[in-house]
Amino acid sequence: MQQFCVFGNPISHSKSPLLHNALFLSQGLQAFYGRVCLPTTFATTTPTYKANPSIYTTFHALNLTGANITIPFKQAAFEQADEVRGIAKQIGALNTWVQEDSKIIGYNTDAQGFFMCIQDLRIESALILGAGGSARAVACILHSNGIKTNIYNRSSTRFSAFKEFTCFGPQEIKSLLTQSYDIVINTTPAGLHSLQADLLPLDSQILSQILSKAKFAFDLVYGSPTPFLNLANKLGLQTQDGTQMLINQAALSSELFTFGECKLENILSVMREVL
Ligand code: NDP
Repeated sequence: MQQFCVFGNPISHSKSPLLHNALFLSQGLQAFYGRVCLPTTFATTTPTYKANPSIYTTFHALNLTGANITIPFKQAAFEQADEVRGIAKQIGALNTWVQEDSKIIGYNTDAQGFFMCIQDLRIESALILGAGGSARAVACILHSNGIKTNIYNRSSTRFSAFKEFTCFGPQEIKSLLTQSYDIVINTTPAGLHSLQADLLPLDSQILSQILSKAKFAFDLVYGSPTPFLNLANKLGLQTQDGTQMLINQAALSSELFTFGECKLENILSVMREVL
């Protein structure tokens, strides 16, 4: 039986096993997908990661055919893969590992999974709120599809990972307000937790001004509506949460896990039934 899993910390909330096991069952594949919680120390790649406990050695010890990697291990997964393919090289973070002839091949399916959600919309410009790992994936795929992309983040330390983009912080709000964007994409977890249920990724008046000039709003967070999407809905924008992106990235990973044997359209139709 082939074994797959998702590596993360925390990981108990992950819906990935539901999606992948549903596919394996529907296709009659002898395969199982589980969750593995790794110590957070594995998020740092040491010079001896191939010999000492790490994501790399855990993958081999469990004799996995493939794995997904989530917070906080996506960057270490990039550093520890034997080979990286596709847009992941630009992003610098991976969410998928596949074993090929005992080598770990790394991919990023978050980027394409996001783009599949918006590719039919007429979009020429985008503002990304947040400058973390998922913002980098979204920015790279928008840029590679010729969409003018700017970044806003509450702090500037992460802007060094966005050298090819125009970035705004709280000091540059005035210039940000002179711009307009077809889509505003929230990649921050603001408002996700019940203790901060009203929290927006930036000041409500400023965000309202930006959204009023936009047509679409997208939130990577999935599950329950965030204050960001509630505000965008109130202002009459077309909105989407992260559920479809989650399904798309899982389906693209499964296509890689089954080496193209399962076709993307079939995988998507099985996975859409689950969530
Ligand atoms: P990171 O931790 O790498 O980055 C988070 C970013 O959000 C940082 O720029 C941080 O700013 C900013 N931020 C955090 N809290 C706030 C706040 N209260 N107000 C304003 N800005 C804030 O996270 P990821 O990029 O990996 O993930 C972000 C979100 O995207 C998560 O909620 C995750 O669940 C979701 N996601 C969804 C996917 C899907 O398939 N739907 C796929 C991947 C991610 P600073 O730099 O100042 O700390």
